[in-house]
Amino acid sequence: MAEIILENLGHSYLSDPSGDNDYALKPVNLTWQDGKTYALLGPSGCGKTTMLNIISGLVPPSHGRLLFDGQDVTQMATSARNIAQVFQFPVIYSTKTVRQNLAFPLECRDVAPGRIKERVAEVSALLDLDYALDMPARRLSADQKQLISLGRGLVREDVSAILLDEPLTVIDPQMKFMLRRKLREINRKTGVTMILVTHDQSEAMSFADEIVVMKDGRVQQSGTPAELFSRPQNEFVGYFIGSPPMNMITLNARKDALGTDALSLTKALPSDPNAGLHQLGIRPEHIALVSATDQNMGTGTIKKIEHLGVDGIVTLELSAGVVIKAKTRKHTGMQVGNAMGINVRAEDALLYVEGALAAAQ
Ligand code: ATP
Repeated sequence: MAEIILENLGHSYLSDPSGDNDYALKPVNLTWQDGKTYALLGPSGCGKTTMLNIISGLVPPSHGRLLFDGQDVTQMATSARNIAQVFQFPVIYSTKTVRQNLAFPLECRDVAPGRIKERVAEVSALLDLDYALDMPARRLSADQKQLISLGRGLVREDVSAILLDEPLTVIDPQMKFMLRRKLREINRKTGVTMILVTHDQSEAMSFADEIVVMKDGRVQQSGTPAELFSRPQNEFVGYFIGSPPMNMITLNARKDALGTDALSLTKALPSDPNAGLHQLGIRPEHIALVSATDQNMGTGTIKKIEHLGVDGIVTLELSAGVVIKAKTRKHTGMQVGNAMGINVRAEDALLYVEGALAAAQ
């Protein structure tokens, strides 16, 4: 196991990069603690796989250093790094049995047969694969094959971290949920650091102790799921984390989009109204739909109600044509066309200036 430090680490696939845009990963500083779960989250092409491949050693970075427990491994070969990797498609020997698949990484390292037997038994028990040990691997389902890929990494006693590159993509939704829970359980039982690449925010939120949100090769914010949810540092993070995304209400220079009541909610309103584009960011979960007398942010007319089982998503049109979404459990008595008061706690109304969270928030 190891603490992993990315020190000014960046990469350009071009031999002679000239500007920021030439970098698939813009230089970044991050520290990942031993034994935790991390997710690299962002849309396609944002640099997640590049970052993961630098950590495994498949891509040599053009900038900065990578440290495992203080040791500089930037130039170290993949095979010397003690990293296990699970890819989108299971990498297994389909003609070998599950037992032979799990034993293979240890046989390659000349581990004593007795110890191999013990390790295979430990890992198959951890992964609930005991019943399948003597079956040919090709007979198993896609999620079980992914467990074997994971097991081939876990079976090694020297593994520093397990890198998971969208390993749930080929798994059906029901099994996905179970496999994700299994990954967390294995992390808790073994204490092995896990780094998951995904473009699915709900997957990242439910799996990771910390999430690194990326866009266009740049880390936008790194933090716990709770931090990213309650204090997105910019408009992109507010949009990418959460479902539905954060409401971003543009306030024009005269600050009249919602009336002055709404603006009094934000403690950090800039004194100069022409300082830039101001937005009020409010999570749908933080909007309470109340009677007109209890509102502190004006009223709105219900345009749509979506039923999601326990929760409902209510779309409202406020004054000046502003449309927002509220996520609530109190939607059952409501109807399209109803006028509702909007109530938001001051600490849940965040001010953004030109897309970035205002300093005082
Ligand atoms: P995806 O989710 O689609 O896998 P990603 O977030 O993992 O995307 P990367 O695969 O790291 O993103 O790609 C980041 C950028 O680097 C993209 O613009 C991509 O086209 C480019 N890129 C990736 N690999 C190479 C390569 N071997 N040579 C040149 N450019 C590359």
